[in-house]
Amino acid sequence: MNKPASVPEQVDAVVVGAGFSGLYMLYRLRQLGLSVKVLDSAGDVGGTWYWNRYPGARCDVPTTDYAYTFDPELDQEWTWSEKYATQPEILDYLRFVADRYGLRSDIEFSATVTSARWDEQEKRWRVTTGRGTEIRCRYYVMATGCLSMPKSPDIEGASRFAGQVYFTSRWPGEGADFTGQRVAVIGTGSSGIQAIPLIARQASQLTVFQRTANFSIPAHNGPAPAGTLKQLGEDRDGYRHAARWSRGGIPVEPTDVLGVTASEAVRRERFEAAWELGELFGILNVFADQAVNPASNDIVAEMFREKIRSIVTDPETAEALCPKGHYFGTKRPCLDTGYFETYNLPHVRLVDLRKQPIISITQDGIETADESFGFDAIVYATGFDAMTGAMVAADVTGRDGLSLKEKWAAGPSTYLGLMTAGFPNFFMLTGPGSPSVLSNMTVSIEQHVDWVAGCLKDLREEGFETIEPTALAESGWNQHVQDCAAITLYPTANSWYMGANVPGKPRVFLPYIGGVGAYRQACDDVVGQGYFGFRMTGPGGDRCRDGVIRRMQPDVAMVLDLVAAMGMPATESLSAADARALMAATAATRPPGPEVGEVTDGVIPGPAGDLPYRLYRPAGPSEGPRPVVVYFHGGGWVLGNLDSDDPLCRDLCERSGAVVVSVNYRHAPEDRFPAAALDALAAVQWVDANAVELGGIPGQLAVAGWSAGANIAAVACQLARDAGGPRISGQLLICPVVDSDMTRPSYAENGDGYILTTALMRWFWDHYADPADRGDPRAVPLRGDLPGLPPACVVTADFDPLRDEGVAYARALETAGVPVRLTRARGHTHTSVTMVGMVISGAPVRAEIEEALGDFFPSPQPQEFVS
Ligand code: NAP
Repeated sequence: MNKPASVPEQVDAVVVGAGFSGLYMLYRLRQLGLSVKVLDSAGDVGGTWYWNRYPGARCDVPTTDYAYTFDPELDQEWTWSEKYATQPEILDYLRFVADRYGLRSDIEFSATVTSARWDEQEKRWRVTTGRGTEIRCRYYVMATGCLSMPKSPDIEGASRFAGQVYFTSRWPGEGADFTGQRVAVIGTGSSGIQAIPLIARQASQLTVFQRTANFSIPAHNGPAPAGTLKQLGEDRDGYRHAARWSRGGIPVEPTDVLGVTASEAVRRERFEAAWELGELFGILNVFADQAVNPASNDIVAEMFREKIRSIVTDPETAEALCPKGHYFGTKRPCLDTGYFETYNLPHVRLVDLRKQPIISITQDGIETADESFGFDAIVYATGFDAMTGAMVAADVTGRDGLSLKEKWAAGPSTYLGLMTAGFPNFFMLTGPGSPSVLSNMTVSIEQHVDWVAGCLKDLREEGFETIEPTALAESGWNQHVQDCAAITLYPTANSWYMGANVPGKPRVFLPYIGGVGAYRQACDDVVGQGYFGFRMTGPGGDRCRDGVIRRMQPDVAMVLDLVAAMGMPATESLSAADARALMAATAATRPPGPEVGEVTDGVIPGPAGDLPYRLYRPAGPSEGPRPVVVYFHGGGWVLGNLDSDDPLCRDLCERSGAVVVSVNYRHAPEDRFPAAALDALAAVQWVDANAVELGGIPGQLAVAGWSAGANIAAVACQLARDAGGPRISGQLLICPVVDSDMTRPSYAENGDGYILTTALMRWFWDHYADPADRGDPRAVPLRGDLPGLPPACVVTADFDPLRDEGVAYARALETAGVPVRLTRARGHTHTSVTMVGMVISGAPVRAEIEEALGDFFPSPQPQEFVS
């Protein structure tokens, strides 16, 4: 019985939503001995499976994987009748779970939350419902699902239609009978694609209005997959464990086959196998690079289109059904049963809204730019205000009167997708910034619920009343979420992942794409470090360990993992010859770097013999002269050659439009300090003197280098200035060595674990220069005279022992009146910025480098010869 409005009910926790996440949250909170009230506007449990009762609605993750696993008995008790269970069967399952654990007694149905406000005085939430009741609680948990707020029909005249109107997302409990009717379906996402074949069975005429053609594979539904059942039978715990640490929440071995390098036979074989398997995580795993490399993605997409053309008999309809204009996977792919075949039925028609857009809905039907259609029923399968819609609509107001809607006006901001600063004790299950919709939801739900339950237990045990993320931790996580998305093709699509389906919604990538296992690790690390990034308060005092839990670029972290897995010997344990051989062997496995117009090799007369060089000329319409960049490779004065930095030189050449002359200088220990520096000066002088012959513009000469190469580039600038020439237009110093002092904080922070280590730097110095020489400006340019040097671009990487000396050099140049651009390679290591084609997150840094090179030269445009 409801209490009178004047006596608010008090519970420990209010949970909104009685779907998969709300039910399990209730179960876990009860286990902690907390009093709980679950509110749901539906008439029963089920969440998404309560509302989405449209014909054909079924799971599109194999249901053997789409179930609770927290209780092994429950896990064994329920048997799914099909590989992909229907909506009624899943709803039955959730009812069974609710009854099995006696959950209903704490759930209030048909109860809509109208607002929730944080009371700072009481340190409680005040939650009000549509019935006017108020409930006060310490913890407020939104278990409202990611796809629960239907998108309003943003089509002119929608309210005018006099016939029957249906939304797939709010299907009537009694169902709908379309027998003998003229039916319109608007929308061809997962819901539309599932419903269309079944509606076609009843309707006398079915017209599908498609705005964007979608990628869909046949489900090949049938009995639960024998392979999975076998694995579960043999080792259920092992299988579930693997799912929890997998990428998508299902144990799928990620392939290492690259689409761009695989043979045609392998490509076909892999695609056909995934098509036959009929599983979304399979078709998303045809190639390792399909989510990041447009060329690889195109291969998969084209094979899709071939399939569609082979199924759909009318060529025009087939072509309209072929997805174009977005990369495969970047909009949620679909799973279907006879979807494309449906268009071969004589009473089914596809209207391509790209060719004839809807002008308005009329009283009798739909009017497009070309035609008027009469209908008895319109079915909207137009989707959801995904991931944020339900949360924002619930009118949540945190500390200082700030509402979630206001805070998220420019896009959601969360820590781990679980909490948001300014809203103490407010938890989101599968919120934005967590893997949620990119994963098997049940695995992600269990992980979130377990995390929240563990957190509340810890708070209680440690005597804290509130928990809330810090602004720093939250913005760091938001950055990480966007960094993960940015290395993929996903942000390019107008998808609901990007909020692009709702007019006016900020364009932000909403879920976390780094993977379920990686995400779980981040959550565990946060707890392991004493709730890192959270502030906890209580009568006994506050506690906060502030910081950013993931600062490294995700692809840099992947490369480090790969390198660690290779178990290579530490370079400093090798002889110079062996270290060179190892470096050459690893370089041979890299992507080659971009195509350039021309590559030629030659020699420069050096002070002690010829110095080999490699010249890169940009591709492009103009044959005219270009600015010239003299480049010096990295390798600690010991390693490296013309091949070692070849991809980076190609990238610099292609981006900047300059001729790049990469010079191989003498190496230590055979030729110690100052041989490399003197060679660098000689090379710059020679290139300047021969600029015209090399295709350069006289007087437009810059130097560049990475690591020790940047060291000698910087030294060459000082030597050239002192020698009265040549005039150098700019110096690009990527992660330079500029000092021999290893006591700066970046050595302490990054001296181990990021490829260039303190031990390796010592090894380099020992090979290159006697201790007595390590203060000479020709070895350590930071200690030289700096006024009068060319403008500089200094690139420093966060996880580089050399970071702080690079910053120091930039500051010192600035103080000396030299124009400086300091570019921070955020989340990068000493080596990762140079990994062209491998570390995608390095590309924006190299784009900044490109800008800097443009600034060095008076005219960035190539100039024509004047005869
Ligand atoms: P959706 O993927 O957002 O699809 C909505 C469709 O409606 C799209 O084709 C969209 O076109 C179209 N549309 C929207 N507004 C329109 C307008 N004003 N005029 C014309 N067309 C319009 O929504 P959904 O199909 O409901 O699926 C949403 C998500 O729910 C799925 O991606 C999936 O994650 C989940 N889902 C899962 C299952 C399952 O597990 N079995 C089933 C259904 C849904 P545009 O693409 O051009 O915007």
